Amino acid sequence: MSSLADVPALLWVVSFQMGLYALMWLLSLALLQESRVAVAHWTAFMALLSIGLLLAALRGEPRHWWPYNGTNAVTVVGFALMRRGTQRFMRLPVQDAEQLALLAPALAFFAWLGPGANEAPWRIVAAYGLQALILARTLWIVRPALAGEFGRRTMLGITVPGAMLVVVLVALALRQVAAWPAATEMHSAEAANVGVMLTYLGGSALFSFGFLTMVTQRLVVRLREASMRDALTGLFNRRAMNEALQRAWLRHRRTRAPLAAMVIDLDHFKRINDTGGHAAGDAVLARVAALFQRHLRAEDVVGRAGGEEFWLMLPDTPREHALALAERLRQHVAEAALGVTCSIGVALALPSDADASQLVARADAALYRAKDGGRNRVEVA
Ligand code: GH3
Ligand code: MG
Ligand code: MG
Repeated sequence: MSSLADVPALLWVVSFQMGLYALMWLLSLALLQESRVAVAHWTAFMALLSIGLLLAALRGEPRHWWPYNGTNAVTVVGFALMRRGTQRFMRLPVQDAEQLALLAPALAFFAWLGPGANEAPWRIVAAYGLQALILARTLWIVRPALAGEFGRRTMLGITVPGAMLVVVLVALALRQVAAWPAATEMHSAEAANVGVMLTYLGGSALFSFGFLTMVTQRLVVRLREASMRDALTGLFNRRAMNEALQRAWLRHRRTRAPLAAMVIDLDHFKRINDTGGHAAGDAVLARVAALFQRHLRAEDVVGRAGGEEFWLMLPDTPREHALALAERLRQHVAEAALGVTCSIGVALALPSDADASQLVARADAALYRAKDGGRNRVEVA
């Protein structure tokens, strides 16, 4: 695979491949509404890598600055943009001062050094070293944010291949150190340079995969979150409530810890809509939801089951605690000057319950008794 004529041809191919990645990200930029600043940076990164390799493919004698030093300068600037875009994507500060402190001397060094073969080892060590350094810094900085937003597995899926790329870049720098004073320039036809091209080919694929993973994971997390939430109150919706109920139920069955459920319905809510309009009704719903959230423990789950009906699930809560909480919630709503009261049905999971729906059905029956008993009251099944 490595006849003498092959390496410049490979340079063209790899440059073309990176150009395709740049084009793909440019299209994403046109099509996506999300994360546009970051995507613009990644587009520029891939475009600069493509240009850098294109310049390297144009190398020849006599030596000019752009195909030699220009390649290094363009590539290193590309890596700096990759770092900036990635930190923007993760909503981290971009640290331009630190980047400039690295880039300015690096670019001055490439400009000062000249394109000659004698200076090539210095350029090569500086270029690979800087790429490795910028990539390593990027991974180090975004690692906690990646784990926080997407979980440990996705963080590892992005940072482990990234770290492997850092190792390869360091190895390329060390290869040059070992070969000193001979230069390991990538346009020269050596078998090892085929490996360099494959590194760039694989590396650019890894970058695009990593960026794509981050963009899609964020979308998935957001859609999953949206599919669980009620838009008006921000509480869990009925579907999420059913899932949470199922989880709490299984845990209750395993641990035998008491499990309480409440169904809360606002009293004569139609009147609020009739007198104040639908928007006034919406505002009351949102404020009642916020009130419930304020008075619950972290492990309690509250959702809007539909209309003006809310479900609460209280793990590890014995009957008397559930009743006391229901009474407190009823009072808070009545005293909140919202012009509305609520009725609450409380039920406790029983050993005879076949599934969670029987618990909710009993809480519902208790709610109807509270309504029949005059509203603004608590009943327990
Ligand atoms: P009760 O004390 O028997 O529960 O009387 P109610 O008026 O609260 O009960 P009913 O079920 O007859 O009416 C519920 C009303 O809640 C009717 C509906 O227009 C209103 N509603 C349901 N969802 C929303 C909403 O999202 N926003 C607003 N503003 N009103 C809603
Ligand atoms: Mg009602
Ligand atoms: Mg209702």
